[in-house]
Amino acid sequence: MCNILHLEWTATPKTPPRPILGCSGCGGPQPFRSSGRIRLNANGKRLDAWLIYRCIACDGTWNRPIFERQTIRAIDPAMLDAMQASMPDFVARIEFDALALRAKAGRIEESDDIDMRKAVLRHDADWRRIAITLALPYPTGLRLDRLLAAELPLSRSRLRVLFDRQEIRVEPERKDVLKRGIRDGTLITLDLRDEAERLVVGKAAIGRAAMGG
Ligand SMILES: [Zn+2]
Repeated sequence: MCNILHLEWTATPKTPPRPILGCSGCGGPQPFRSSGRIRLNANGKRLDAWLIYRCIACDGTWNRPIFERQTIRAIDPAMLDAMQASMPDFVARIEFDALALRAKAGRIEESDDIDMRKAVLRHDADWRRIAITLALPYPTGLRLDRLLAAELPLSRSRLRVLFDRQEIRVEPERKDVLKRGIRDGTLITLDLRDEAERLVVGKAAIGRAAMGG
């Protein structure tokens, strides 16, 4: 089929998610921010690793477990070096992993502020369908309808109508997918019947994309 405008959107949050924790220093629930420092603790042949967070109100600490009681020999030496030096790339991968953070902290807050890069994978001259593949370097809890409403000239209620009419389809299929957190590799297909709408949505979907991905 030669009627596709296929884009890849790479969405990277600008700031890491913050855990909301009961702080032993100042009492009430507070956001904590990453200190960027990893602490290692060797116990015989076993190792614990934490990323240190600090309460934004009183500087109280929270140790986010990266792993506990790991056999040292089983740890990749490059990873061990990265942890000992608190290397920024390594730390960022942990800081931005919202799903892993939620599993440890329970409650987290995520910024909707994302850095979006758009690339054209395929641009047929007389395209009718728009396909968008989402690429996410870090797992995020940002809702799909919020992302689409921010990037396309479509309100969340309009997105819902189009989705119900199957003019928008999302793969892999999940229940209530518009309200769920976005996932790496998600494919959104917009088969818009209204030509004027199709053109403005297509233009916004391309954005300032670079050709050739
Ligand atoms: Zn505190």
